[in-house]
Amino acid sequence: MSIDQASAQDLQAQLADLEKQYNAFEAANLSLDLTRGKPNSAQLDLSNSMDGILNSAYVTRAGEDCRNYGGLDGLAEAKELFSKVLGVSPQETLIGGNASLTLMFQTLAFAHLFGVRGADSAWIKEGVVKFLCPVPGYDRHFSVCEELGIEMIPVAMTDQGPDMDQVEALVKADSAIKGIWCVPRFSNPTGIVYSDDVVDRIAQLGKIAGAHFRVMWDNAYAVHALHREAPELANIMDAARRYGTEDSVIIFGSTSKITFAGAGLAFMGTSEENLKYFKKHLGMVTIGPDKVNQLRHVKFFGDFDGLMTHMDKHAELLKPRFDAVLQHLEDGLKGSDMGGWTVPEGGYFISFDCLPGLAKEIIALAAAVGVKLTPAGATFPYGLDPEDKNIRLAPSFPALSDINKTMEVFVVCVKLASIRLKLQ
Ligand code: PLP
Repeated sequence: MSIDQASAQDLQAQLADLEKQYNAFEAANLSLDLTRGKPNSAQLDLSNSMDGILNSAYVTRAGEDCRNYGGLDGLAEAKELFSKVLGVSPQETLIGGNASLTLMFQTLAFAHLFGVRGADSAWIKEGVVKFLCPVPGYDRHFSVCEELGIEMIPVAMTDQGPDMDQVEALVKADSAIKGIWCVPRFSNPTGIVYSDDVVDRIAQLGKIAGAHFRVMWDNAYAVHALHREAPELANIMDAARRYGTEDSVIIFGSTSKITFAGAGLAFMGTSEENLKYFKKHLGMVTIGPDKVNQLRHVKFFGDFDGLMTHMDKHAELLKPRFDAVLQHLEDGLKGSDMGGWTVPEGGYFISFDCLPGLAKEIIALAAAVGVKLTPAGATFPYGLDPEDKNIRLAPSFPALSDINKTMEVFVVCVKLASIRLKLQ
């Protein structure tokens, strides 16, 4: 029943019952953690046979010894495979080290310091530089901006993607805005997939904003569906080609949640002209990436179908964890008006919005009985959720039994905080 319709007497009775449950959690000495958006060990085990798979065959298709220096932008066979994850051509692909976050940081740092087309285009020369940040979003995107001194402007997320009326109006009004962060398929943390219309409008931003604007298209969950019928994402590079804005789009991905989070491959896709400038600076950072890792990834998957079959095995391990979180939310909170949540068909997170002003309190209540949740505000620039209502739930890592216990506690904490608020 909705708390808005319940009588004060009813709410008092519920509160007494909830306090009893909460005290029992306190006595149970729990130590649980739902903060970590990382693969569980069974997922990591799926890729163990990559170890030793090369069996001393280190020569690439082009005849290079992959153990040696060189090959700044990666192996041709790795580009061929992972360009399909990015949705670009192999010529538009660069294969890097183990973290797409590094490629994203370098992209922005190079643009900021050295320019997107030579020194005259360095963003930093223009003084204040701003970035659009759809919220809730990924905290590490925001910390990259903070580190580089790029001012962040939050933009509302809808269930179709960023609010494009707001995005276009902001970009038209302020030439200091140099880019936008996007997690377009199974967004972190809402899990939504950008609609075709939103993708098309983002592809046109380069026309509105000018030649030095960049869309940071972080497709970290491109192939991370919980089932094969999950919504597909429109190809942004195809749309950009229609509008002549290919230079404005930079697509990122990695195998961090496909093979090994700490020993995978990161890749980026963008116009050949952009890659030329990026490589010029990358060449100052490294002589070349870990090509042994690239070759073993190619050998392990064989082709894109092999990669997708591998992703089905991840889905099998992840889906019950997502289902468990969602079941607790349904059973405990549906129709209560104490919060709303997303039902993702892929990705690594569920986004929960409690009543405004309660996120910090709910997280503190859970922490006090040994249940760690992602800190309130983490999904907003500068850690500031203006309504203090978004909580990111990350079900991938804990065992199912721990998820069940954690969610029992979570639901009780949401109810406790909400009913206390109503009774004030
Ligand atoms: N992008 C998003 C949206 C993520 O959620 C994550 C990890 O959680 C990353 C990037 C990190 O990717 P990588 O491990 O390739 O640096």
